[in-house]
Amino acid sequence: MTHRVWNFAAGPGTLPLPVLERVREELLAYPGAGASILELSHRSPAFETVIGEAEASLRELLRIPETHRVLFLQGGASLQFAMAPMNLLAATDGPAAFVLTGTWSRKALAEARGIGEAVTAWDGSASGFSTVPETLEGLAANAAYLHVASNETIEGVELPPGFEPEGGPPLVCDASSDFLSRPIPVERYGLLFAGAQKNAGPAGLTVVLLREDLLERIPPGLPAMLDYRTHAEHRSLYNTPPTFAVYVLALVTRWVRDEVGGLAAMHERNRRKAALLYEAIDRSDGFYRGHAVPEARSLMNVTFRLPSEDLERAFVAEAAERDLVELRGHRSVGGIRASIYNAMPLEGVQALGAFMDGFRSRHG
Ligand SMILES: *Cc1c(COP(=O)(O)O)cnc(C)c1O
Repeated sequence: MTHRVWNFAAGPGTLPLPVLERVREELLAYPGAGASILELSHRSPAFETVIGEAEASLRELLRIPETHRVLFLQGGASLQFAMAPMNLLAATDGPAAFVLTGTWSRKALAEARGIGEAVTAWDGSASGFSTVPETLEGLAANAAYLHVASNETIEGVELPPGFEPEGGPPLVCDASSDFLSRPIPVERYGLLFAGAQKNAGPAGLTVVLLREDLLERIPPGLPAMLDYRTHAEHRSLYNTPPTFAVYVLALVTRWVRDEVGGLAAMHERNRRKAALLYEAIDRSDGFYRGHAVPEARSLMNVTFRLPSEDLERAFVAEAAERDLVELRGHRSVGGIRASIYNAMPLEGVQALGAFMDGFRSRHG
């Protein structure tokens, strides 16, 4: 038997066990192809089926309307920080406006500033990025687009369900760490991008949803690989896409549909898991101090501090002895971060919650 720990890593993160088992079963010969998915040409009929199924499955899960293209790209969310302004900012009036809720939205703003005019529409830095705006409605009405990060992976704050404003400038959303964690109204998004490695598959793949009319904004003269039109016209097969990652993404989307029951069921499961940890924080009489204010708490990344850094180190070490691993917070925030993405089972979160109670009674 293979020994597996409860992996609370922020990304690449844990994948659903049934998906890994399926990958293992099919690894030497993809059904009907007589060769591994790792060996198949991206132009082969087998891979054409895989990428077609990945798109169809995403469209079904997220109810992606016909108005939106699905692109499978590389370069991570970090490349999207540059591609979004290169494609959507240069030829239009008005700056790109950024909602700063944490490290990743701040990075995106810094990148956009090197490309065009970019401004801050809302800034949570004074609270140490522990809050999110109450509403985005009416924000930056004259901007070329409004950039948000729906979940800030490092600070552990998340915009609430239904945060997407109606009307206003096109919404550009970095959904890297909460993609597929809950239903979203895709029709309200101009551009959504997500690195797959947090919640949707292996590293190396970035999923992009793009409203088709925005293709017309793109200025001429961009390098082909950095131009969304290239990838839209070639259905993500302009050059070699990350074939293995696309294959695993297709399996993950089917797992969400068939074994979880879809995105509403996924959301409910994620709410239950997160509640277990936030309850452990809230009943600890201040021993655990959550970073996010309650209204901004992320369902994906639960961040908290202990009374001292020594205790934080002891927490991480003792947890690891019990197979609860990768709990150290990001170096910029410190403390503890438990990433409990879609694939982390309830059982793993229960084990962490019980450990938190036990650690507090031993050290509190
Ligand atoms: C991880 C992460 C990124 C960076 O992703 P890369 O794929 O490493 O470029 C950007 N934004 C968010 C919200 C993330 O969680």
